[in-house]
Parts: sequence; C-alpha cells; structure tokens
Amino acid sequence: MRITCTIQETRERLAEAKGAGKKIGFVPTMGYLHEGHARLVEVAGKHCDFVVVSIFVNPTQFAPGEDLSTYPRDAERDEALLKKVGCQLLFRPNEKEMYPTPSLTRIELPELASQLCGKSRPTHFQGVATVVAKLLHIVQPELAFFGMKDGQQLAIVKRMVEDLNFPVQIIGVPTVREEDGLAKSSRNVYLNEHQRQTAPQIYQALLKGKAAIEAGETDPNRVRQIIYSHLQDQPELRIDYVEVVRLSDLQPAAQIEGDIMLAIAVYLGKARLIDNLQLHVKNSTSGQRRQVLDKGLDIL
Ligand code: AMP
Repeated sequence: MRITCTIQETRERLAEAKGAGKKIGFVPTMGYLHEGHARLVEVAGKHCDFVVVSIFVNPTQFAPGEDLSTYPRDAERDEALLKKVGCQLLFRPNEKEMYPTPSLTRIELPELASQLCGKSRPTHFQGVATVVAKLLHIVQPELAFFGMKDGQQLAIVKRMVEDLNFPVQIIGVPTVREEDGLAKSSRNVYLNEHQRQTAPQIYQALLKGKAAIEAGETDPNRVRQIIYSHLQDQPELRIDYVEVVRLSDLQPAAQIEGDIMLAIAVYLGKARLIDNLQLHVKNSTSGQRRQVLDKGLDIL
C-alpha cells in the first residue's frame, strides 16, 4: 500500500494506475477505521482493481462546539487495517493541503441538506458536499463507495454527482453492525459502558418501525410514533429526530410506499448517534401481501 499526503503525488500514482488500465474505486473516510469502513474497501476491491482510501477529518463539516478537536484518530491502526483489506493507495492530506487558502467555493443542496441532521447541523452538509467534490476531482474514480449508515450524506452525494455530471458512480453499502445491532461508528468510543448497553435500542426502535410496516401499518406518522415511543422509554437517550422520509428527496413520506427511510438521531452522553433503515415497500395489489425489502448494495 502506498501512502500519499499531497494532491500532486496522489494524481501521479493514480495516473500510473489508470495508465495500466486499472479501474479505480474510492472510499473517502475520516479515519479511526472500523469494520464498516473495512466493508466499503472490500466491496470496492470486488468491483475495482485499484482501491484508494482517503483519511481526512474535514474541518468545514464541523460547526463550532462540535467534536472536531476530539474526533478519535489512530493513524497506525488505520494503516494496518487498510493493508489487510486490500487498499492500494491511502491519501492522507493535512488541512493545509486540502485548504491552502479558505475555500470561497461551496456546494449546497439546500432542499436535501436542511432535512433530518441538517436541522441541528445546518452547515454540515455544505462542508461534506464540498469536500467530497474536491476528493472526487482529485481521485477521479469510476466508482465511489459510501455507507448507507449515513443515509442523508449518501442521498446528497448521489444527487450532487447527478446534478453536476460528475463522471462517477456512487455506490451505497449496507450498514455494518455490532452483534447487538448497534451501527458501527467511530463515535461509539465516546460511550461509557452503561451508555453502550443502551445504544442498541436505537436499532431496536428502527426494527419496531419496520415490523409495524410489515404488519400493515400504512400511516407514516404512526410508524414514527412507534419508533419515537420506543426511544422515549430509554431515559438516557435524548431524541434529536425520528423521521420517516422518501429516499428520493428526504421529504416526510406521505405514505408508506416505494423507497423510504426510517431515520433516527439521538444524543447519548457525549455522542450524537445516527442510524436508519432504508426500505423498499411494495403495497399489495389484489389481496397479495405487502412486500417490505431492505435496500441492499446498489451496484449495477
Ligand atoms: P466516516 O469516517 O465516519 O466519515 O465514514 C466514512 C464512510 O464509511 C462513509 O461513507 C460512512 O457512511 C461509512 N460508514 C461509517 N460507518 C459505517 C457502517 N457501520 N457501515 C457501513 N458504512 C459505514
């Protein structure tokens, strides 16, 4: 595995790989890697022959008072994990390399970015979209892989790439979970032992929402209520939001049909945790049972 810190050297390594006819796959991350990230790299390796991972804790997506300075980092462990899972090039720029001068260009998708996490983190997705655009321009991969765990981020990146004609296909990869259902996240290290025991209730709440849909619930507000009251029963959790939205535009779903997302954000101790289920719901015609499918890896 090669490691680059500059944009120029990254481009040189990529030019060699492309010159040798390699298909480039890209996985952007903020480091402190876990099995969720590893899965993205493994999936990338299955569909591409040269996998690039970036590690950059992007300051512009953190608001003042958020956890930029305390965001967990472990460069050595990250390197070892990436070697094991078959990453060929690790791009690890510092802030000066990515932002030699403060950026005067910003990418905004206001309709998507103001929903869900955007309500409590109003500048977050502008930072995400802009840095992902920069990284995609630096790496110019054929495929780029993002976790479905960050459902709003995935929807925003997909839409940016479509609207601005980036020559890349964005692939969503299903969420990797701990055995008890908690979605793997770099931020799980913020949880103390007791909070860690409460955290799987986030996924349990989502499963209750899904079960209600499977049992025939047709009212998105009822589904939302079911999820909400499960979370409310956990005194340690402070709910930021519970939403049932359409995946296409992240607007509240008017009905339980088609591609929808059940999405949660909560505060638990020092951590703000998010999770979601992305479902495809096919309502019954002529007496057939309703079908509720988990959306999977969306590679063509
Ligand atoms: P991060 O380092 O948190 O910015 O995440 C980098 C990428 O890994 C993003 O596309 C995330 O959605 C993805 N990711 C993070 N956690 C998971 C997980 N548990 N399962 C699958 N993908 C994940």
